[in-house]
Amino acid sequence: MHIVAIDQGTTSTRAIVFDKRGAIVATGQREHEQIFPEAGWVEHDPAEIWAHTRDVVDEALETAGVAASDVAAIGITNQRETAIVWDRATGEPVYNAIVWQDTRTQPLIDELAADGGIRRFADVTGLPLATYFSASKIAWILDNVDGARERAERGELLFGTPDTWVLWNLTGGPDGGVHATDVTNASRTLLMDLRTLDWDEDLLAAFRVPRSMLPDIRSSSEEYGAAKGTALDGTPIAAILGDQQAATFGQVAFDRGESKNTYGTGNFLIVNTGEEIVESENGLITTVAYRLGDDAPHYALEGSIAVTGSLVQWLRDNLGLFDEAPEIEKLALSVKDNGGVYIVPAFSGLFAPYWRPDARGAILGLTRFANKGHIARAALEAVAFQTREVLDAVAADTGVTLEELRVDGGMVANDTLMQCQADVLGVPVIRPAIIETTALGAAYAAGLAVGVWADLDTLRSMWKEDARWAPSTDEVERARLLARWRKAVTRTFDWVD
Ligand code: ADP
Repeated sequence: MHIVAIDQGTTSTRAIVFDKRGAIVATGQREHEQIFPEAGWVEHDPAEIWAHTRDVVDEALETAGVAASDVAAIGITNQRETAIVWDRATGEPVYNAIVWQDTRTQPLIDELAADGGIRRFADVTGLPLATYFSASKIAWILDNVDGARERAERGELLFGTPDTWVLWNLTGGPDGGVHATDVTNASRTLLMDLRTLDWDEDLLAAFRVPRSMLPDIRSSSEEYGAAKGTALDGTPIAAILGDQQAATFGQVAFDRGESKNTYGTGNFLIVNTGEEIVESENGLITTVAYRLGDDAPHYALEGSIAVTGSLVQWLRDNLGLFDEAPEIEKLALSVKDNGGVYIVPAFSGLFAPYWRPDARGAILGLTRFANKGHIARAALEAVAFQTREVLDAVAADTGVTLEELRVDGGMVANDTLMQCQADVLGVPVIRPAIIETTALGAAYAAGLAVGVWADLDTLRSMWKEDARWAPSTDEVERARLLARWRKAVTRTFDWVD
């Protein structure tokens, strides 16, 4: 028996076939276009995403030599917050997907924050008011696409994050497609009440989003419906989790206090807080970790960092420092240290723990001595420093200092970054055997729903360590570098009016 995980990520869509031991049998992957129509705007083409989803599923099944009849269930995981609005009768998107990194809705956010500040809805949603979340993106589409608001009010349009878009299309689209999401994705819209796990009328009114557009909110592990008309025809879709929550699940961080840090386009640290909703006073987000069927939900604190892997992409694509992302490692190793150079990648402001939309990126400490090796090194260090600041916020909010950090995501293939991370944190960094923990988590949750795996203990016993890095610097050096970093961060504030 096999499980197929569909991972609809920010830069690419993957399908991974897992076997009953949780091992990867085959993978299909396609990158999609990043569309930047204006500074601060980031879009994806939903039709391209759906086409790639079908392609990668076909490719993975073919490579694996696995027939649909041998697939017990499909799990979906996805880039969160990204907003898609489409016509329920035709399946035509009314506008491109507005991606989580997009900052065009700052004026609406400012308007709402003028009355009560950015924590105005934090009690209910666990989130600060920010362009990051879906609500303002939906409002933008309704206000800026001709006729969209009227059509939405007539009940003709549907909204979904990419999980919902994939689920709806996979289950038949206009022909009976299931319009649903899970609690983890819904918790990132700024429209869901964390306690009732339902859409909140006051929030819908504040963002002027008609309820009829919104998907049903279901648990993260249950049967939502069966695939219709693709290579997986008839197979149940049995899990949906936002990518970071899926990674937490894939790292088997099921207990209160357990955590993981994912290094992808951005970085996302999640700490499981069990059934308790912990409100952050230090710039973290409160979110749903997962909910299995009718069980009580597990909540989490999250530190979201917007730019980490995408800084590597920027050095590659915009500065042309290297051709492939992994080459940054060699460049960083060509120098003995950062040579005093710091990069603060506040490309779209700063997320956790600062939440400063007014910040913009900067390279500081340049001298005639600085070369591209120092820039590469500073980029990797920026990832490590940002993670350190988020972990400090977790410690301040919960009183718990992590004794080790479990990591995953595309960037953790970079050993130099991992050593740097251990040095900046002063605790060991641990990489599991499977770093595709996002897809693995979706597969685990789907397999649990259909009985491929009996319980959480079975999953725990499947997790394996691959490598660990111990800190190699002392406390004094660590504090010196961190102080410099903090100073660099403050220099990026107040750049945008
Ligand atoms: P996502 O799921 O967000 O699309 P991934 O987990 O696939 O992202 O990670 C891809 C990111 O990691 C890209 O931004 C890329 O620049 C970066 N990356 C990939 N390999 C390396 C590497 N060896 N060193 C540094 N960065 C890397």
